[in-house]
Amino acid sequence: MNIHEYQGKEILKSFGVSVPNGKVAFTVEEAVRAAKELGTQVCVVKAQIHAGGRGKAGGVKVAKNLDEVRTYASEILGKTLVTHQTGPEGKEVKRLLIEEGCDIKKEYYVGLVLDRATSRVVLMASEEGGTEIEEVAEKTPEKIFKEEIDPVVGLQPFQARRIAFNINIPKELVNKAVKFMLGLYQAYIEKDCSIAEINPLVVTGDGNVMALDAKLNFDSNALYRRKDVLAYRDLEEEDPKEIEASKYDLSYISLDGNIGCMVNGAGLAMATMDIVKHYGGEPANFLDVGGGATAEKVTEAFKIILSDQNVKGIFVNIFGGIMKCDVIATGVVEAAKQVGLSVPLVVRLEGTNVEIGKKILAESDIEIISADSMADGAQKIVNLVG
Ligand code: ADP
Ligand code: MG
Repeated sequence: MNIHEYQGKEILKSFGVSVPNGKVAFTVEEAVRAAKELGTQVCVVKAQIHAGGRGKAGGVKVAKNLDEVRTYASEILGKTLVTHQTGPEGKEVKRLLIEEGCDIKKEYYVGLVLDRATSRVVLMASEEGGTEIEEVAEKTPEKIFKEEIDPVVGLQPFQARRIAFNINIPKELVNKAVKFMLGLYQAYIEKDCSIAEINPLVVTGDGNVMALDAKLNFDSNALYRRKDVLAYRDLEEEDPKEIEASKYDLSYISLDGNIGCMVNGAGLAMATMDIVKHYGGEPANFLDVGGGATAEKVTEAFKIILSDQNVKGIFVNIFGGIMKCDVIATGVVEAAKQVGLSVPLVVRLEGTNVEIGKKILAESDIEIISADSMADGAQKIVNLVG
């Protein structure tokens, strides 16, 4: 799960990580009031969307007085920002962070991520902050420094110090930078983050080390024990189809293609997407209805797939192991009836009671194209969609 920058900064602050003073605003008036309350010479008006790259896209503006705050706030609120992270459709700005302007001496990058290969959290940092870290990694990988963290003892001060020296934090500020990194690590662990990225971390004119940006992502599997984090969820930033799917415990991820896929099991879902692509089609989604898919779940899954305007055909690929094929077939027929199927439907069933299942499909008065194998089903749906 993703949260907004201002929320991330709230969390970081509670772990002793230094951030500029700031306030969230939902309207232009609130933005002006927030700037007044901050009472600083210079304010920064920052678009709050679940994506980075806002600066380059015009979503971060420095205002020198209240009039400018008003101008920038009205410009940015309601605007659809297109950044390298939003995709071409962009994201509409509904919240702003009004933040005290910071006298930046130099920008750095500091991030914590989980390295799945070593199963450890890695602290990464670079002297090249503010820019896209992916670009630094590609062009000048020697400018990125890493420390692997032992989960038993956590991030050690000597490691943070080594990073601080490697990225050339001014000597007199190394201790502040170390405190910053230890606080960041504490927040990462205690809030079950999957990513904590500070780009830029800055050294200021008055000798502070601060997070000017904050991107915190959380492990969704741990949210059950992080109610405070869950409270930060902003449903307006998420795909409505994915929200609907999560209500029914369906693992659904929206994609750009036109073939809706309904599959049980994540592995089979991945394989289905692969084979659809292999035969020249493009999946419209990843969808795992789970091992214990009921008729109700299958119906909801159908509804979600069909609510996607791009879907021109559906491929159901189910292996009946725990779930029997006849139950699935009944669910598919039921669902197709309820939602009033308007696109071709190819079904491939395999496993327990497959013959009964196929019979149910054949005898229903719904136009269902039966497939004998994954390859057969994928080719059929790709041909039908054209
Ligand atoms: P994004 O990464 O989405 O572009 P950032 O929060 O990193 O957004 O802001 C982009 C740039 O704007 C920063 O690199 C920094 O130079 C400047 N900036 C952001 N916040 C402030 C602030 N409070 N004071 C001064 N400059 C800021
Ligand atoms: Mg940034």
